[in-house]
Amino acid sequence: MQIMFETHCTVEEYVKQGKNFPFPKAPGRCTNPKCRMPVRMKKHGFYDRYYIKAGFSGKILIRRYYCPYCGKTVSFIPHFCLPRFQYCSEIILKCIERALNRKCSLNLCLYEFQKQYPGFSISRQHMCFYTKRFKDNLNFIEYGLRQISSITLPPAGLEKRERARKILGIVKAGFPSIHTFSQRFFDTCRKSFLTLLK
Ligand SMILES: [Zn+2]
Repeated sequence: MQIMFETHCTVEEYVKQGKNFPFPKAPGRCTNPKCRMPVRMKKHGFYDRYYIKAGFSGKILIRRYYCPYCGKTVSFIPHFCLPRFQYCSEIILKCIERALNRKCSLNLCLYEFQKQYPGFSISRQHMCFYTKRFKDNLNFIEYGLRQISSITLPPAGLEKRERARKILGIVKAGFPSIHTFSQRFFDTCRKSFLTLLK
């Protein structure tokens, strides 16, 4: 399983510190819901995962622990990472926002987006994929927002794109950063807001 933790350092600082980064301490109780033994979990090395944002792309280290009782592992991922996505959640949401608000072709929208971040590239497929996933997950995102706080949600009956725009606006206005939203959502729902729902 994965736990997303909040950190105030940037990805560059995180990478620079490597294994010396002050990772969250080993949980004193197994994080596996089927075990929950009150035993201190043990260090289980690191793995690396790819991470891309404007101005950075490369591997970052993820700290892992295991339960000496059931053997299950837990990974601690920094809140600027989104499970199963290589791109930074902030960039993903900016991309979705552009696509939802566009009044021009998708290609022009993408061109304008990339112009904002020189040297950074994201494909048309990614832009479509993220926007579709966000729209597909609107009910789930609303559910998560309701669990997190008493935020006023958009009225029922809106057209999907409009509803998506409103929800995105609520996310942007209701949290200090997209990363904070992403972390609190993951913590509450045990899934990322862009997870593939079955
Ligand atoms: Zn266990």
